[in-house]
Amino acid sequence: MTKLLLATRNAGKLTELRRLLQSAVPGVEVVGLEDVDDYPEAPETGATFEENALLKAREAVRYTGLPAVADDSGLTVDALNGMPGVLSARWSGRHGDDDANTALLLGQLGDVPDERRGAAFVCAAALVTPAGQEHVLERRWRGSVIREKRGSNGFGYDPVFVPEGVTLTSAELEPAEKDARSHRGQAFEALVPLIAETLQEV
Ligand code: IMP
Repeated sequence: MTKLLLATRNAGKLTELRRLLQSAVPGVEVVGLEDVDDYPEAPETGATFEENALLKAREAVRYTGLPAVADDSGLTVDALNGMPGVLSARWSGRHGDDDANTALLLGQLGDVPDERRGAAFVCAAALVTPAGQEHVLERRWRGSVIREKRGSNGFGYDPVFVPEGVTLTSAELEPAEKDARSHRGQAFEALVPLIAETLQEV
């Protein structure tokens, strides 16, 4: 069976990619970083989501010799000229402190009126093979940033993000419903045919 490494420790992302790949590419086993020998992970220094996703996928291939998929994502806020963007995970200065990041964002948008609170979650997904083939793409999930947190599903900025076309925050959506609509769901879905095509050639 062909192995494909998804360069993440996030169990949710693994489940999602496995589900999408199951029907499209039945002979592929998706493994995560927990399933391979540890390697030193470089900091995400890219200026764009696509660059960071490619950096992570290339690094994974270099250390494991397996074809690899990596993603990079974040929230881009219109009133902040696209920030926090690639700095989303460490916006408050501490990597992965979701509460502090969200509190800082809400403070910054305090005086921004409802009609100018547009934002998008963005996800870039990259596929790199040991032979050096590379694909990268990006998908967006538009919505707006509300003023107070609502909901307890999801992570990061989910409690303050209301996607277009719904009234619930992405932290109030059921996980499967979020996956079906989200930036990451869309990016993985778009990558699946490329994975199918590319792995047949490996
Ligand atoms: P990563 O690409 O998984 O490292 O995510 C980067 C950061 O972007 C996260 O720490 C969150 O702050 C934010 N982010 C990305 N995707 C989502 C999402 O689906 N919901 C909420 N926050 C997200």
